[in-house]
Amino acid sequence: MAELYDGIGRQINYLRVAVTDRCNFRCQYCMPPDGVEWLEHDKILRYEELIRIIGAFARLGVDKVRITGGEPLVRKGLIPFLGEVARIPGIQEVALTTNGSLLKEYAPLLKEAGVSRINISLDTLQREQFIKMTGQDKLAEVLAGIQKAQEVGLTPVKINMVVMKNFNSDEIVEMAKLAINNPYQIRFIEYMPFRSGENYLFTAEEMLKQLIDAGFTKLIPQMNSSCPAKIYDMPGSQGSIGFITPVSRHFCSTCNRIRLTPDGCLKPCLLSNDEYSVREQLRSGISDQELLEFIKYVVWNKPKQHHLERGQKSERGMSRIGG
Ligand code: SAM
Repeated sequence: MAELYDGIGRQINYLRVAVTDRCNFRCQYCMPPDGVEWLEHDKILRYEELIRIIGAFARLGVDKVRITGGEPLVRKGLIPFLGEVARIPGIQEVALTTNGSLLKEYAPLLKEAGVSRINISLDTLQREQFIKMTGQDKLAEVLAGIQKAQEVGLTPVKINMVVMKNFNSDEIVEMAKLAINNPYQIRFIEYMPFRSGENYLFTAEEMLKQLIDAGFTKLIPQMNSSCPAKIYDMPGSQGSIGFITPVSRHFCSTCNRIRLTPDGCLKPCLLSNDEYSVREQLRSGISDQELLEFIKYVVWNKPKQHHLERGQKSERGMSRIGG
């Protein structure tokens, strides 16, 4: 099996694919501030183009694919597409990130299609706050979706909370309590300041302090976790909690991923503006061999690290990158 390395020796085996920029939520921190303008239809990669690109990555040793968006479950035809991805030789794991609002209906179909795990984004457990943050009154649907995902075995169910200072930072303890009686992994994510003038950062250290003050004192770090999250077991609890620290302690040196945006750009670093249009290559008739060479070139040029601490910004919001 071929292997894909960047210019500083990191092996890339993980592709995150945003299948759409569209979303049924309007999270203020994720969507463009000046209103949503969806990508034109012909700019979005077609399923057969996505399969060709993912197949090329698989030939180069990528074995894990995460489908994201926008909200992936709003794209028509997603389930058969996921089945096709799961059958690509070399792909060992197909995961999905979703806001959970359509999950109650889709969880069994996802499982059947070959999706092994899902991450659900949930930033608050309070209905009013949920409406304020997402623009939708869908908290009950998301909670039902989480339960369904657990029932059908899309496990371990991971719940991601982006913590924002003075916004939802007072809900960390309530969220962590979910992991006591449920086998969920609750992951607290530091807010990344994508746009200028934002100051919502609440560091993992501050989160941990809040949890310890609330009595979460027995946190046993998991040793074998290979993901960027630092995960802790809690004796007597069914689930676990974790922290993802893109800002206070970046994990660029072990980054193993590359992203494909809905409009067909390869993005070797989430926070860099470097992008390489694979859509243009595909639509101008590139051969399979040329596609492999193009991917190798992009990966080779993956930036060494991001510079959020120096005020680096991404020109695309998350909904157009695929978080
Ligand atoms: N719609 C799906 C969802 O809600 O999970 C997938 C796409 S969404 C862009 C993926 C994740 O990116 C969400 O968990 C969201 O909270 C996260 N995200 C968006 N903007 C962010 C930011 N500035 N900092 C950290 N996470 C962010």
